[in-house]
Amino acid sequence: MDAVYKWIDEHRALAVELERELCKRPAVSPDSGGEGELDKAEFLQNWLREHGITAQERYDAPCANAKGKCRPNLIAKIDGGAPSNSGSLWFIAHLDVVPPGEASLWHSDPWTLIIKGKDGTPLGTDYQKQYDALRGLRLVGRGTEDNQQGLCAACLAALALLAAGRKPKREVRLLFAADEECGSVYGIDYLLKNHPGLFTKADAALIPDSGAADGLEIEVAEKNMLWLRARTAGKQTHGSRPDLGANAHLAAADFALTLHNELSKTFNKRDPLFDPPYSTFEPTKREANVPNINTIPGDDILYFDMRILPCYTNAEVLQKTEEIQREIEKKYGVQIELSLAQTHESPATGVDAPLVLALSREIQAVYGGKARPVGIGGGTVAAFLRNVGIDAAVWSRLDDTAHQPDEYALLDNIISDAKVMAGLMLNF
Ligand SMILES: [Zn+2]
Repeated sequence: MDAVYKWIDEHRALAVELERELCKRPAVSPDSGGEGELDKAEFLQNWLREHGITAQERYDAPCANAKGKCRPNLIAKIDGGAPSNSGSLWFIAHLDVVPPGEASLWHSDPWTLIIKGKDGTPLGTDYQKQYDALRGLRLVGRGTEDNQQGLCAACLAALALLAAGRKPKREVRLLFAADEECGSVYGIDYLLKNHPGLFTKADAALIPDSGAADGLEIEVAEKNMLWLRARTAGKQTHGSRPDLGANAHLAAADFALTLHNELSKTFNKRDPLFDPPYSTFEPTKREANVPNINTIPGDDILYFDMRILPCYTNAEVLQKTEEIQREIEKKYGVQIELSLAQTHESPATGVDAPLVLALSREIQAVYGGKARPVGIGGGTVAAFLRNVGIDAAVWSRLDDTAHQPDEYALLDNIISDAKVMAGLMLNF
């Protein structure tokens, strides 16, 4: 392991240069006004080839309004020592980045990598003389942390093994995916639907796309998501004559409160893996109804954001919701129409899954602490994999500057995360 760690330590400049090149190629989704990931994917293909990783495959999802009319997914493979039926170890980072946001909040050009010292002072091109002595160098630019930190760390880990003449235990697949920021329709979801043969249940995946500042948090589970739209139809009438109509707003308000209280009471289990450790049933958005005060509205639209512990199913929650819906309809003489704005559920990866245990050991070796499995509110690439029976852990050490102005990655985090990943490649 020492030779591999040493190689990574000696190649901090390589990580900086890779970040610099990636930063120059804004892979913003066409949905957010960009061109997509083609330039970045093609650059990365060449870069990997030049550095000795030649086994590559591209899976382009067709997309009419992206550059090259496609959203590219790049897979680089490194042969493992184990027989092929033992499954592959995936490292999944996304190529796309979010737009810079409010330009005036940035202190530098988001698409030009800037290196800053620990105290925030920009360092010139002679940073290389300083970085060995300096800890805490920040690489500033859009995408540097989300998700180029994970991307660079995975590349560095693979190259370190190559340089040391070591084979990973299982076949390693580095997947650089499209479209994570806008729902993975052209990314992991596209691959699972259109190229299911790429994956087997024996596979395991590390997704370096979220984590804590101490590097000890491993995300293994997500709450189920259920986003509901409720349209209440009553009868509009004058504000002084509620007896002649049916107040849709009043009925909807009762529905919101009753649903919140009853669902919280019925689905009340707790799971300390999650924060908060219980299911949440929140009324959120409300659409405008009448513009004046003295009309009783006959129409009301409101939404719920529900995050449900995976010990329950969305179907159970919906069934209870419909019971309450019927009570409210009867009580107020209204019709409530429910529709699903978004729904998602996925099983958890066990806290004692071999992947999680192996990752915890490598984290201990590099970061010197005991890893904590956690659950989150929902919505990562891992959920897609867990749904097809693949163990997936989301982990990295992050300052959590993603999507912010002056986004940065700590060079130390890239280097140390690369060591954890190299260890996982060798020992899992
Ligand atoms: Zn991300």
